[in-house]
Amino acid sequence: MRSNLGIFDMSVHAFLTLFAVAALNAQDQPVGKGVNLYSTEKEVALGTQLASDFRRTHASLDDAAARDYIEQMGARLVRALPQPPPFTYHFELTTDSSGTFLEPASLPGGYVFVPAGLILAAKDETELAGTLAHAIAHIATRHGTRQATRAAIAQQATIPLVFVGGSNGYGPSQGDNLLLPVGMLQFQRAFESEADMLAVGIALAAGYDPHGLASYVGRVQEDPQQASMSGFPRRDTRILRIEQAIQGLQAKTYTSSGEFAQIQEEVRRRQPPAPPNPTLQR
Ligand SMILES: [Zn+2]
Repeated sequence: MRSNLGIFDMSVHAFLTLFAVAALNAQDQPVGKGVNLYSTEKEVALGTQLASDFRRTHASLDDAAARDYIEQMGARLVRALPQPPPFTYHFELTTDSSGTFLEPASLPGGYVFVPAGLILAAKDETELAGTLAHAIAHIATRHGTRQATRAAIAQQATIPLVFVGGSNGYGPSQGDNLLLPVGMLQFQRAFESEADMLAVGIALAAGYDPHGLASYVGRVQEDPQQASMSGFPRRDTRILRIEQAIQGLQAKTYTSSGEFAQIQEEVRRRQPPAPPNPTLQR
């Protein structure tokens, strides 16, 4: 097992799973796409718990300008969802900038944590918007609680409910994945692809260049030797699918707030420089 799991994985993982199984109630009506035994209310309650645990291990970045910027970008993307979400979305910044936290964490019920490392690693606004759209998509499609539902049905006790990117850092490691049945990994890969497809649509509808996600994935996602053991589609496969999805959509004029460089500089000033990350291909 890799050592860079982060405290989050060790403490929250176990907690998540226990909570997930305890929160299941077969009498609830399935809500949303796919089998889901969670009601919206239960999902929000679960997310609120998980978010409070997450905050204990990941300090928040106290920067009003960066917070406003992320909140505005998040709100713009959420408004572009094909259906109004049943949750209120919350976007929070964390100080994680060690070079290992390069993607947002999506928690059930509308909580998105954006590490400083992502803002620093993004080449431009479209890359940031693409990854944020992917995080929003996981929550909108209720991947966390659908995963929990699947886990309960399969009587599988260690399924991550929090979706993170394919770089190292917040994410479940290959070591964890080795414990999961192959069916679960396929399920998780399908969720990642689903989130990518929705993210492309959201980014485009919100007026961001949808190529940003593929660009970021290409630079940041690890491509493990044993791809069959990963919860992510192969990096190149992911990029190809994203590009194909974009081709199927009508091109739009993209707008940029022009603030990105300024915000990046602001965050950099508040953060010690990150050590070089071997997975980041510049
Ligand atoms: Zn994802």
